[in-house]
Amino acid sequence: MSALPVFAQSTGTATATPAASAQRPADNPLFVESTLDLRYPHFDQIQDAHFGPAFDAGMAENLREIEAIADNPEAPTFENTIIALEKSGELLSRARVIFGSLNGTDTNDARKKIDADYAPKFAAHRDAVMLNPKLFARVDTLFKSVDSLGLDAEGKRLVERYHTMFVRAGANLTEAEKEEMRRINAESAKLGTTFSQNVLNEVNDSAVVVDTVEELDGMSEAQIAAAAEEAKTRGLEGKYVITLLNTTGQPPLPQINNRELRERVHKASVARGSRGNQYDNTEVISQILKLRAERANLMGYPNQAAFILEDSTAGTVEAVNDMLGQLAPAAVANAKLEAAELQAMIDREQAAKGEPTFQLEPWDWAYYSEKVRQDKYSFDDAQLKPYFEMKNVLENGVFFAATQLYGITMKERTDLPKYHPDTWTYDVFNEDGSQLAIFIFDPYARASKRGGAWMNSYVSQSELEGTLTVTANHQNIPKPQAGQPTLLTWDEVTTMFHEFGHSLHGMFSDVKYPFFSGTSVPRDFVEFPSQVNEMWADWPSILANYAKHYQTGAPMPAELLAKVQAAAKFNQGFATTEYLGSAMLDQYLHQLPADQLPDGSEVMATEAAALKAAGLDYAPVPPRYRTPYFSHINGGYAAGYYAYIWSEVLDANTVQWIEQNGGLTRENGDRFRSTLLSRGGSKDAKQLFLDFTGHEPQIEPLLIKRGLAPDPKAAAN
Ligand SMILES: [Zn+2]
Repeated sequence: MSALPVFAQSTGTATATPAASAQRPADNPLFVESTLDLRYPHFDQIQDAHFGPAFDAGMAENLREIEAIADNPEAPTFENTIIALEKSGELLSRARVIFGSLNGTDTNDARKKIDADYAPKFAAHRDAVMLNPKLFARVDTLFKSVDSLGLDAEGKRLVERYHTMFVRAGANLTEAEKEEMRRINAESAKLGTTFSQNVLNEVNDSAVVVDTVEELDGMSEAQIAAAAEEAKTRGLEGKYVITLLNTTGQPPLPQINNRELRERVHKASVARGSRGNQYDNTEVISQILKLRAERANLMGYPNQAAFILEDSTAGTVEAVNDMLGQLAPAAVANAKLEAAELQAMIDREQAAKGEPTFQLEPWDWAYYSEKVRQDKYSFDDAQLKPYFEMKNVLENGVFFAATQLYGITMKERTDLPKYHPDTWTYDVFNEDGSQLAIFIFDPYARASKRGGAWMNSYVSQSELEGTLTVTANHQNIPKPQAGQPTLLTWDEVTTMFHEFGHSLHGMFSDVKYPFFSGTSVPRDFVEFPSQVNEMWADWPSILANYAKHYQTGAPMPAELLAKVQAAAKFNQGFATTEYLGSAMLDQYLHQLPADQLPDGSEVMATEAAALKAAGLDYAPVPPRYRTPYFSHINGGYAAGYYAYIWSEVLDANTVQWIEQNGGLTRENGDRFRSTLLSRGGSKDAKQLFLDFTGHEPQIEPLLIKRGLAPDPKAAAN
């Protein structure tokens, strides 16, 4: 996931009016531009109590700026309207960007309260700007005469995108409709905060308590020690606690030999948010969906998906349904073939033990697929892990690949303040030694961090503001006990490459206007560059540089490496099916008209019916996220979770192009950087893809990659 700006993230240096400076308390670091390199935030000085006053003053200051632009007696010009908007909201943006990131990566009660208090205020503030009729009239005037303004392509596109943003926020509505819009936005904001706080509380509250160490048979010593430690932290000394992640699947399931415990862990995972406790999200999501449908109707669309998809590269509901519909049967058929292998393994093992066999259940999948993988490819994750020590993967894998492709280099620095001790900070340099960016690496899971992996920018590049990028990558890697190395799974390794792909998109940004900076691209395009960067994780010369034993430094044996590559398509039926289950649910719920949306009590039944209707109700493979803990559809991926597979089509085409044109070379890196990564949102997204590959996207490379179509390369050998 990548955190996208929701509004122009001006980080500029616009000087404050005297009235505003008079209110600026000297001891609140958020009120002034950071003096650290690249405006890196003063994490050491920022306290939670600083956010509220900065938000209040920031909104007031921004409203004064907006009024000044709207009431300007001069006729609207690009400079006095669009550029003035780009430069406005400096204090508010700075405070919100920092708060948003800290609240996501390390929340606490104070931050949760600020989030809940300010979500509706921010929604109201945005409406005050976007629904200001005088302001929109100026933007509209410029839009209608955009060809005669003497602008270059980027300036012209800026006017057009501002106009679209205002229209889509409701600027063309009647005053009565605007009032309705304000109510919907305020309620949605409140509910959105409740939803995400419930998700985090449920993950922590649903951890599985285990009484005896015998039940943990199969887990590593380090995992058992971590479970004992977690129990101690929770006042359950002598017991063991298995913590959960926010996906349906849970990391210890492949290892747990005790089938009852596997079942308990799985059931605790899938029950989250629909257990009828104080964190139940079914009623919350029902109300959110109804409000979105109402808003879509107000805007003249039949449903939320139609509204969202109009402004995506996919363009229409039909295009997305068509794509998901094409993939679903092939994915499920593949998953069923995999299941047959797992069932055969269960039957064989039970017979060998002289015990009756049983039917494959969801909590058995990870466990037996690990066994089948060992059987087929004779290796398991535990064999790989010693070759993937975290910092080594980062510096000699992820960074090394970027150096080979783009000539950039990274150097750790320890003088900058941190918001959490478990973070690392790096300077990023261009080939000529000049500074390109600052990068923060924040890998570990903690109870205060939201689930998943994501990238965010604290400062975004733009020529207008004279800024470069300060970016961060977040993951949820279990932290080992003190003194133990952090050894990664293959999944965690590729995720690290993925998130750094987002960061490269941010760092290489070379645009004039903040509006277009870095990852400010359509949702179904933003995952594309990050997915392309995953291709280097197992590129032979990159892998050889980082896959080294953490104790001996010995390279990963060539035969193990070959097995890893041979196993690349293993379990893809499962992975594609669980993903499509969620992607389809997201579309289903957002394509229903308002009067057909489920009440809270019907949400889970609707989910089951939707999966059945799409042919994705295959019991052993539940959706990757069930509705009550599907954070993506609460955040910016509503009607947009399909974006991952949509982006993957572009990704697979691009990987194919690179492979056919020399692979890992500086030339290819520079081409990707100059035609695509540096352009941000300053050009039409699909055009960026065409600029790089020179052809329309084709679906075949994705089908081959996912094992859904035969690989011509494999057939030739
Ligand atoms: Zn991503």
